[in-house]
Amino acid sequence: MIAGPCAVENDQQVAASLEAAKEAGVDFVRLSLWKPRTKPGFEGLGSKGITYMVQAAKMGLNPSTEIMIPEHAKVIMKQVLPVLGDGKLLLWIGARNQNHYIQREISKIVSKDPRVFLMAKNQIWHNEKHWEGIVEHILDGGIKPENFLLCHRGFAAMGYNPHAYRNVPDYDMAMRMREKTGLRMIFDPSHTGGSVEKVFHIAQEANAYSFDGYIVEVHPNPKEALSDASQQLTWSQYKQLIKVLSQRQANRFVL
Ligand code: PEP
Ligand code: MN
Repeated sequence: MIAGPCAVENDQQVAASLEAAKEAGVDFVRLSLWKPRTKPGFEGLGSKGITYMVQAAKMGLNPSTEIMIPEHAKVIMKQVLPVLGDGKLLLWIGARNQNHYIQREISKIVSKDPRVFLMAKNQIWHNEKHWEGIVEHILDGGIKPENFLLCHRGFAAMGYNPHAYRNVPDYDMAMRMREKTGLRMIFDPSHTGGSVEKVFHIAQEANAYSFDGYIVEVHPNPKEALSDASQQLTWSQYKQLIKVLSQRQANRFVL
């Protein structure tokens, strides 16, 4: 489970998030520093926020963030690795970041330390061949498959979208990609769902498939969030979600 705010915002929001993430026992705390935006707006704290990842690592949490360029991986690793101990660091490449040069360079940098994991989200448009290409470019950069995860965050709706999801999942394609690549496949119910209600609905829908984990946006005060306010869960909703997911999992084996 990767959980935490869409973006880090300030000392108070980070302190509350780290405490709650620790209590909830997340595998990685989401502390995103860079926000690629569809239109100009809050773009994240950028490298100024790396101190928050250091703070998380010192508390024994595994920090994670999106990065946009190879330089981001370098500056984070330089500051976080010295305090990480035997912890893990997760960096990911977002859906909008479709430049194979950047993908390969990031892979090269990340592969220098076995404690660093890289996750690649699928591209925005619905195309299996392109998704395979992302995987091939990244592997070409030298990352070991055991340090490389994929993430399904749905595709831009181009017609059929009966639940009016923010992005439409293709579970079968995600499962084929998992099978073909042998890589772990994480599911993102936050950016597919787009609202708290839909996050619950879609996470349960996805739970019928063999995803290896979830990345969920959780904010101490979602109404005040500077980005993606409508889809961020409270920590109490997050605990509810975990309960719902584990019940469904149990049912699957019984039935
Ligand atoms: C995110 O995870 O913060 C994000 C921007 O998602 P995506 O790249 O899937 O749009
Ligand atoms: Mn978001």
